[in-house]
Amino acid sequence: MTGLSAEKFDVLVIGGGITGCGVARDASMRGLRVALVERDDFASGTSGRSSRLIHGGIRYLEHGQLHLVRESIHERQTLLRIAPHLVQPLPFTWPIYRGARIGKWTLRAGLLAYDLMAGRRSRRHHSLDAAETLEREPCLARDGLTSGAVYYDARTDDARLTVANAVAAVDAGATALSHTRVTEIIRSSGKAVGAVAEAKYSGEKREIRARAIVNATGVWINDFRTDEHGRHRGSKGAHIAVPSERVGNRDALTLISPIDGRIMFCLPAGSQTIIGTTDTWTDESPETVHASTSDVDYLVRSANRYFPEARLDRDDVVSAWAGIRPLASGGTDNPSAVSREHSIVIDSGGMINITGGKLTTFRSMAAEVVDVVQQALGQRRTKAATDSVDLPGSERANEIARLEREDPQLSRVLVQGLPYTGAHLAYGIAKEMALTLSDLLIRRTHLAFETRDHGKSAAPTAADIVAPLLGWSAQMKSDRLREFETDIGRMFAIGED
Ligand code: FAD
Repeated sequence: MTGLSAEKFDVLVIGGGITGCGVARDASMRGLRVALVERDDFASGTSGRSSRLIHGGIRYLEHGQLHLVRESIHERQTLLRIAPHLVQPLPFTWPIYRGARIGKWTLRAGLLAYDLMAGRRSRRHHSLDAAETLEREPCLARDGLTSGAVYYDARTDDARLTVANAVAAVDAGATALSHTRVTEIIRSSGKAVGAVAEAKYSGEKREIRARAIVNATGVWINDFRTDEHGRHRGSKGAHIAVPSERVGNRDALTLISPIDGRIMFCLPAGSQTIIGTTDTWTDESPETVHASTSDVDYLVRSANRYFPEARLDRDDVVSAWAGIRPLASGGTDNPSAVSREHSIVIDSGGMINITGGKLTTFRSMAAEVVDVVQQALGQRRTKAATDSVDLPGSERANEIARLEREDPQLSRVLVQGLPYTGAHLAYGIAKEMALTLSDLLIRRTHLAFETRDHGKSAAPTAADIVAPLLGWSAQMKSDRLREFETDIGRMFAIGED
């Protein structure tokens, strides 16, 4: 075994989702020596399959989770400030129909509480009558529409937000390895003192020693956690993307599914509308989880009730995908009622396990984890300025424009009608730690979500552009193309139930 074994770290973070990358950023900004190890790409797990919202979680008010809502709103405001290039305000229209589970007054009370928690800096909701609701969203069903409201949350690019944290960690001195899997925890007298990590492409195995180990593997948490605290359950959430002109929504909408009364979203995403999500307990493997025909039917049928002219069917679905929520607790039949709060547990081997939480609250959650790390290291607790230092990447649009100007080859779009050019790929490699076609076409761009073939026909051109940048031989190029096809086949397949 070679490589990092010579170096000893203060903290090893296993898992490069938003949780692990956030912890790595915070810990390295506190001056700790950090190794971050991710088995696939950063955000290849749940963090790249979310609804891409940085939101207070209006629906959590229903379950009385005021603390979580307050924290989420606070974090939303922080992220709008430190990452305006990745997090932007998003207005939501919430139409109310006669007999709705959440009526006009309940909604008003909820949105008032939402506004109060956000304080003066945030835009306040306003109520709408039926005509005003239709003015905002003319394609909504008219029958039974009584009123509505507009409130404000925020949208993000989940994968690139995650990557920005990994990049920030590296900028602050961390070592971050993607496509490198922890295969074993090294223990000494029962205590976790390091891990064996295996690089996917070179096959190289290395020992990474650290004084503290954080298990941030999301729904994979059971792989390393001693079972003294019980196994974690995950809840599956599926989304579909359909052409926005088929739905006719202008903005984001919060809707109550007519099928089971759950709150769901229709979200604008370029030329598409993303509709989501489902919420069902699952034992599916996180590596192969995908939407099923009944997930797709649920989302299509729910949307059709609100947009009757759309008459969506399965053929309208450009892409469908699913992720698994790593919930910190189970114990109920209804996963939607389970708190999205996180839990931090130190197991008998001294490993710090973090699970649950949301994309939105990653920063505050990371600060809490690193407090625990410092305690485990016997250090005085310090604080990193993670709420005031900007996340990296604000220069991306300018850099991409510069690359396009300087090299005409990089200025050509990869797929007609989508904004992605070779320059997006070159930037992803140079600045966003992308190493494979899946990293680039699924997570540094969303090309695979936005095309019916999920980027398959664009992939050979993309491979030609990136091969010299990544030093690929002809053999490696065809291996990477095959690997990409396997990845999109897994992620975007619509399976039987
Ligand atoms: P993950 O992102 O899954 O990261 C864990 C990582 O560990 C993975 O990348 C995995 O590859 C890696 N790993 C596993 N085993 C190993 C190993 N042996 N060695 C190295 N690495 C390993 N939250 C919001 O705030 N807003 C939303 O809009 C939102 N929408 C959601 C919609 C859906 C459908 C779902 C499922 C969740 C949503 N969430 C949302 C919640 C949010 O996405 C998750 O809470 C968050 O992404 C979890 O991040 P994580 O880092 O804990 O897990």
